[in-house]
Amino acid sequence: MNRLPLRWLIPVLYGAILLAVLGGGGALLYAQQQRFLYDDTAARLRDQARPIIDRRLAADSPGGPRGGQGPGNRDPLRQRDSLAALADDLASRDIGAALYAPDATVIATSTRGLALPTPNALALASASRGVEGPFVSRDAADGQMWVLIPVRGQPNEPVIAIAQLGADLAPIDSALRTLAITLLLGIGGVLVVVTALGVTATRRALRPLERVIAASRHIAAGDLSQRVGSEGPAEIAELGGAFDSMVAQLDTSFAAQKRFVADAAHELRTPLTVLSGSIDLLRMGVAAGDEATADRLLGNLDVEVARLTRLTNDLLTLGSLDAHSALALKPVDMSALLRGVAETYQPALAEHAFALDIADGLRARVDEDRLRQVIVNLLDNARKHTPAGKGIALRAQAEGDQIRIEVDDEGVGIAPEALPHVFDRFYRADDARARIQGGSGLGLAIARAIAEAHHGTLTATSVLGEGSAFVLRLPRLAD
Ligand code: ADP
Repeated sequence: MNRLPLRWLIPVLYGAILLAVLGGGGALLYAQQQRFLYDDTAARLRDQARPIIDRRLAADSPGGPRGGQGPGNRDPLRQRDSLAALADDLASRDIGAALYAPDATVIATSTRGLALPTPNALALASASRGVEGPFVSRDAADGQMWVLIPVRGQPNEPVIAIAQLGADLAPIDSALRTLAITLLLGIGGVLVVVTALGVTATRRALRPLERVIAASRHIAAGDLSQRVGSEGPAEIAELGGAFDSMVAQLDTSFAAQKRFVADAAHELRTPLTVLSGSIDLLRMGVAAGDEATADRLLGNLDVEVARLTRLTNDLLTLGSLDAHSALALKPVDMSALLRGVAETYQPALAEHAFALDIADGLRARVDEDRLRQVIVNLLDNARKHTPAGKGIALRAQAEGDQIRIEVDDEGVGIAPEALPHVFDRFYRADDARARIQGGSGLGLAIARAIAEAHHGTLTATSVLGEGSAFVLRLPRLAD
């Protein structure tokens, strides 16, 4: 059952429920109709019999109808004859009749009409107490239905005989058979129509799901451009939307990863080319005896090795931030940390006008080393892009439930078209100059990744030719 496709499983389940409901209802209707037809025929037989019995009793009574001399008070032989005649009175072409004494002996059986089965003694005894049927017997090919009627001389006198009246069951059976066939055809028809409609509707509803399956297969084969759309019923449309946004995210991150690997390889190739060139020259003995050239070549080697080391470290840092490696978070006095970084870094800013404005009592849960790395990186960038004599500032203050740390410079600024990209990996606004300055284009990407790992943000504003401001916001710890 579990392996059955959904487009069959749903209609089959609904079909089964419908069959149970309609089948149950049909059976109930059939039983009620049968009961009604039996009771109705029984009532008809009784209604027909009553006046005939009354008439016969009245005719036999010398004192007039139901006079003081009822059959019960008369000569038993005459009474028996009279009751025997009653059997013939009661019978007709379609109705059989017989009369029994209360002791279950036969008084008379009509020769006219239908032959009836003899009721057993128990049934006859019960009839005296008012259990009058209807009884049904089906021992022959055609069944009969009969009732028992107690006959009394006077309403409250003892029973003097029990009349049996019966009719053929064939007309009732035929009516019931017609009803059963109609019900079966109706229920069958409804089931077929409902199941067919159910299969069509379910198939239509599940069509988007088939698109999801097909798209998944294409995606598994490497085609991330596949989308399924948000058509169809609400849940499936929602699934389609969620699926598409998941694939879009995968697509973007795969593309970013590819670009990252290509950029990283490119960045590694440049120093490696310089290294192998310098080594070749040294090996060829270019510098033999020429100490100055040898020094220059060895100096190149040094610079490139340092660049490679820095690049490798940056890549490792980014990798661990991407992998959400745990930060060494602890409550830190940020005011003290920032002042410490400024103090250490200040000698490098000897040629600039450096301003420091740190509010007291700023506390945050941070990874100290990583935070220091961000601030040093921002100060380093400011220094690299700010001419000597111009201002650089480090400021920090509380801002709502955040700490706002700002590194400001009066440097060259960043062109508006470059500004949105400065946090991209390997992005350098002025490629040649930045590379000479030793930048790999990873510094700000790492800084932003660290900020975000602390549930903070890092943003930049800049005016070309006037300066830039980098703002780091971190969740603040209450005092
Ligand atoms: P890099 O290691 O090359 O400095 P970053 O990610 O730190 O890489 O910076 C990316 C680019 O953003 C830099 O190449 C530079 O062009 C620009 N930039 C960063 N900080 C500043 C600043 N304070 N002033 C002007 N340009 C900046």
